[in-house]
Amino acid sequence: MSEKYFQIAIDGPSGAGKSTVAKAVAKKLGIDYIDTGAMYRALGLKLLRNSIGMDEVEKIKAVLDETEIDICQGDIILDGEVVSGLIRTPEVSMAASACSAHGFVREKLVKAQQKMGESKSVIMDGRDICEVVFPHAEYKYYVTATDEERARRRYKELLEKGEETTFEETLAAIRERDYNDSHRAASPLRQAEDAQLLDTTDMTIEEVVDYICNKVK
Ligand code: C5P
Repeated sequence: MSEKYFQIAIDGPSGAGKSTVAKAVAKKLGIDYIDTGAMYRALGLKLLRNSIGMDEVEKIKAVLDETEIDICQGDIILDGEVVSGLIRTPEVSMAASACSAHGFVREKLVKAQQKMGESKSVIMDGRDICEVVFPHAEYKYYVTATDEERARRRYKELLEKGEETTFEETLAAIRERDYNDSHRAASPLRQAEDAQLLDTTDMTIEEVVDYICNKVK
């Protein structure tokens, strides 16, 4: 008898708690979590390391051709190097947002993501999962919160990691990334028609996780 795989697709803006929720749901359900944002971040990191501008299309294409990005047991691997600890800085966030606006970048990473989720049950989060990566996913959610609440969460995270920033800077960066991600031509961030809205402003992580897990059961 063939096993029935299912996909849970989660989209939403930065700092909405998507990855925390997705990680916890994956653990509870015993399925794999695929953080697609980490893949764009890894490429952004490589471009920054090579001092390539986010509008230098030919150079980005050349780098992309010789880049391997993988996810292994929750770690993000860039050309064989574990970069999980290096991709959460404000600079890499902006680089990821800028390089992900290129259609050719998305094409390569989307293909890799589809492959990762085709032969097992997965929960995947990003910006285009419900409409582009897994349009036939069994479960689809658009997870969001007010921009102030998202900035508060991100600011706390950055402080805990020792980043020097202010709440105002964090809020401005969140708003800039929201704007870029939702106004680009290639797969702009938006709620898919068949995705359920989950506004987490006044919800705890546990509440969101339980909600999704109960739906899947
Ligand atoms: O989710 P995270 O904040 O880590 O994503 C970093 C950036 O990567 C986003 O701001 C967005 O521009 C891009 N991204 C994307 N499509 C995805 C996941 C992330 O364009 N599926």
